[in-house]
This record gives sequence, structure tokens and C-alpha cells, in this order.
Amino acid sequence: MRKLPFDKAWIAQTSKTWPTPFHVYDAAAIRANARRLKAAFAWNAGFREFFAVKAAPNPHLMKLLKDEFGFGSDCSSMAELILAEKVGNTGEAIMFTSNDTPAEEFVKAWELGAIINLDDITHWQFMLDAVAAKGLGTGPEDLAGRVFCCRYNPGPLKGGNAIIGKPEEAKYGFTREQLFDCYAQMKAAGVKRFGLHTMVASNELDPEYIIDTAKLLFSLAAEIHEKVGIDFEFVNIGGGIGIPYKPEQKAMDIERVGEGIRAAYDSLVAGAGMKPIRLYMECGRCITGPYGYLVAKVRHIKTTYRKYAGLDACMSNLMRPALYGAYHEIVVPGKEDLPADEVYDVTGSLCENNDKFAIQRPLPRLEPGDFIVICDAGAHGHAMGFQYNGKLRSAELLLEEDGSVREIRRAETLSDYFATLDFPGL
Ligand SMILES: *Cc1c(COP(=O)(O)O)cnc(C)c1O
Repeated sequence: MRKLPFDKAWIAQTSKTWPTPFHVYDAAAIRANARRLKAAFAWNAGFREFFAVKAAPNPHLMKLLKDEFGFGSDCSSMAELILAEKVGNTGEAIMFTSNDTPAEEFVKAWELGAIINLDDITHWQFMLDAVAAKGLGTGPEDLAGRVFCCRYNPGPLKGGNAIIGKPEEAKYGFTREQLFDCYAQMKAAGVKRFGLHTMVASNELDPEYIIDTAKLLFSLAAEIHEKVGIDFEFVNIGGGIGIPYKPEQKAMDIERVGEGIRAAYDSLVAGAGMKPIRLYMECGRCITGPYGYLVAKVRHIKTTYRKYAGLDACMSNLMRPALYGAYHEIVVPGKEDLPADEVYDVTGSLCENNDKFAIQRPLPRLEPGDFIVICDAGAHGHAMGFQYNGKLRSAELLLEEDGSVREIRRAETLSDYFATLDFPGL
């Protein structure tokens, strides 16, 4: 059974101010984890994690990661660029890794001085046209100080997994040939500063897979360096480091990843006589995922062909189980020591039969009023929330190291829900 950073009495007390459901993040655990990640890559001068904003787009969390650990922001939309700007991540503290990108987002990223990570060869000219249309310069002198990166899709050269799919079926990135072509075009246009990116995994728990990704990028960087005559300042191994959602899964051995990439670097970069290359990553899930919890309450117990525990939370608070059939551990505070001798489908109230947090899950005997904690909700949790069926998104709280609680996002109200309607009485 998962150990929580709070107990039933804490939930009872906290829910007086913030009624369930709410998301709560454990600041101490987020800090300890960020420290560990940085230590694992301390061998690489200039190592940087760009927190994937989409995983937990809350400026309070982004600011904590920026102020205390120097984490940049990995952005892929206008809203995420603005959040990064507001927490003080501008310029090269932003990795703009988008796809199917609108012109105005390229312009915003350009104005912020972000590292622009292109998803497609046609986006190079599209971006230059978009920027020029705003009256901004795109001549060699305007390009020389900026950093551009391309996203490589290795296609059949690399296997995928369930969330991200097979690389050759994925919409992201350049083919190999397109990479050489685009870097040559950039060089000809006057670009002097380059990065190289790929992201082929999601929720990956095998350290070797991540190490192989770095190897692939180091070798490719050397090849492009050779053929196109450019130097790379960094390779960005993307996000995708997994977390152990299931009790039988093992956490990623991040120290092993650090050491493995170091060995690859020593032979493929340092050993090949290349200039030093910074290692960048843009992880979201492994930064906040295990340290966020969705706290809810049992509203009804229903017994028909199965037993159902209906919560006051629903898939608009955490969509992963409904979307991917994802497993999330469930803890019943105060009943941790009781045998899990009942089997429940744990549901929400949305009128969709896949609104289930767990299916046929052995749990201690539940009663209305019991608190339920759904673990590993700290990334791609609240962030994926939506309002279908008039269900509202919950508050987000930060549990500080001294035990105090800070509201970092209030719960939505019906007025928020109706705010875009212009109709008498609403
Ligand atoms: C989603 C995403 C990430 C973060 O992925 P995690 O699985 O949360 O680490 C990073 N980069 C890009 C381009 C993404 O789309």
C-alpha cells in the first residue's frame, strides 16, 4: 500500500476549507526528486530540465521548479508560452516544442527569444514568413543569436509504446533526410546555434531505452556535424521518463540513466572530438506525477451485477483511466490496515460508462463518506481536466514542507462554466 504524505485527519480538516474533490501536491517530495534528477546529470556542464508545462500547467509549480532548481519550461501552446513568461522563464529558458503550430505561436516564441524546436521541415519557412509578416527581421543578423532545433522521428529505427505509439505512425518530427536538408537551409540562412531533439517514448521505465535515445542523438549530431558542418550546443532527449503507476512496477533508476548517458557521451561526443554538448530534457510526468494526489469522497455504494463505489470526483478530474485504461493506485485513508476483501468499480458521476477510476479493484469495504486517494495524479491529471456534462475542475493545493496548505488554483464554479454564454439569467 502506498504511503501518503497526509492522513485521514488531515483530509477531514483540509476538506472543511477545500471540499473534495481536490488535487494536492507534495512540495517536499517534488523538491527531493528534482534534486535527485539534477545530481544524476551533474556531470554534464549546462544540463537542463525544461519542465513540460502540459503535465501540470500551474505557475506556482513551474515557479518552484524554476526558482529552486533552474528548470526551464517546455511549451507547446500559446497558453503555455504565456505561463512560462509569467513565471520568469523567457529566452532560452523556454523550449518551444510544438506541432501543427499556428503562426501566432511561432511569433510569440520568437518574441520571447525561446529555443524554437521545429516539428517539420515546412515549418522553417512557415515560421520565417509568420515572423516577417509581423515586421520582425529574419536576416542573417537576426538569426545568428537565436537557437533552433529540429525534432527527429527515427521511424522504424526505434520501437514505441502504448501511449506514444510507434514512431513511424507518430505525427511528430522530421525524417532523417529532412533533418540534413533543414539544418543546411538554416545554416545557409545564417543560423549559428543549433540543437537536436527526439522524443520517442512515453511513460518509459527502462533506463536503457532512454540511454539509447541519447546515444542515437549523439551519433546523429556527429553525423550532421560532419555532413552539414554545424556544431550542436545541445541534444534534447525529450520527456517520457515513466513512473511506476502499478505496485509491481519499479521506479526508473535515474542514476543509471545519468551514468549510462555519461558513458555514451564520453565515447560518442568527447571521444569523437566534438565540442561539448549540453544535455537537455523536457520531462513532465516524472517531475510531478508521483507527488500529486486526487482526493475524493465516496458518495454512494451501489450493488447490482457488480459493486460500485461512486465518488464525488469524476474523469474530468483525472482522465487517464478512461482515456488509456491507465492504472492508478487507490488508498483509503484510515482503512490501510483492513483487508482488501471487496471488489469495486470505482466510478465518477459522468454519464459515460468509462468514467471509472478503477475496474474490479480489491479494496477494503467502503462506505459513503470514506475518503479515497487516487495516487500518481500529479502529471497529466488536473491538466487534462474538461467540463463535459457540466462537471467542473477541482482546486489544486500545495502541501508545503511545514505542513501548511496553499491553494494554488481555486475550484471552478458554475459561473466559470457559464461565463462564455451570453444568455439571459446565466
Ligand atoms: C508530453 C511531452 C513531454 C512530456 O512528457 P512526459 O511523459 O510528461 O515526460 C515532453 N515533450 C513533448 C514534446 C511532449 O509532447
